[in-house]
Amino acid sequence: MPLEICKDPQSLRSRLGAVHREGKTIGFVPTMGALHDGHIMLARTALSQSDHGVVSIFVNPKQFAPHEDFDRYPRTLEADCAKLEEAGVHTVYAPAVEDMYPQGFQTTVTVADVSKPLEGEFRPHFFAGVATVVARLLLQVGADKAFFGEKDYQQLQVVTRMVEDLAIPTQIIGVPTVREDSGLALSSRNAYLSPEQKQIAVQLSKTLFRMAEKIRDGEDFVAVEGWAMLSLMKAGFEKIDYCTIRDKRSLQTPSAAAVPEDMRILAAAWLGKTRLIDNIQV
Ligand code: AMP
Repeated sequence: MPLEICKDPQSLRSRLGAVHREGKTIGFVPTMGALHDGHIMLARTALSQSDHGVVSIFVNPKQFAPHEDFDRYPRTLEADCAKLEEAGVHTVYAPAVEDMYPQGFQTTVTVADVSKPLEGEFRPHFFAGVATVVARLLLQVGADKAFFGEKDYQQLQVVTRMVEDLAIPTQIIGVPTVREDSGLALSSRNAYLSPEQKQIAVQLSKTLFRMAEKIRDGEDFVAVEGWAMLSLMKAGFEKIDYCTIRDKRSLQTPSAAAVPEDMRILAAAWLGKTRLIDNIQV
């Protein structure tokens, strides 16, 4: 089945209506485009677990604050579609802003506790923007399964909670982060980095992996976090929003009884105007 690009909800509905009627299962991957191998891994995973693969491409204005990079976010629809076609994706959904948020749109979906720490502190409107668009996309696509990257680990927890709470009948599946050989997590925002900044960026994942070793060796959390902050500053990061060890489900500080398997290390740090995030399991 050749790739079809649906640019509005009506064409998506008629395309997927036929798929549903044939009794095929749908696997869905929401993205903001500027696709890299991490996104393609999500698409391939979706295709391996369903009959029909749908990828959405929508740069969601609601999840950017006015000072953030909405305007300069890379938009590469043609190249994205070529990559998705090669991967075997069946349908691309690339709606316009007016289609996602028609005149009169008033609803916001907020997920409480798990949205609050970390990204929620530094990007206060971000998760409401994500939850609102993801809820709308999940309802429009009606997929059996939707695939999200662990790269955005807190987002994966927020979406999982939302789907459970709103009884949206789509199973949410997390996919491990795809990295360069250097360890750098693939990200559309890596395109903003100069060659010098990229050399520094590599130290982010290296620091997280070293933190995990230290925790497994029994070192004190506060000391490990302090060491990591200093290492990142020394490496050349200009500002570190957070670099911290958390309970992998609640994203709160782990309890005294927590074992390494319960912990996730998450970080966000700046190089010039570019904000990078990464996280790993301890
Ligand atoms: P984005 O368009 O970058 O906001 O992300 C769309 C989806 O791709 C999200 O579920 C991300 O978590 C996922 N994603 C982004 N980067 C990676 C990566 N390096 N590895 C795996 N998934 C990723």
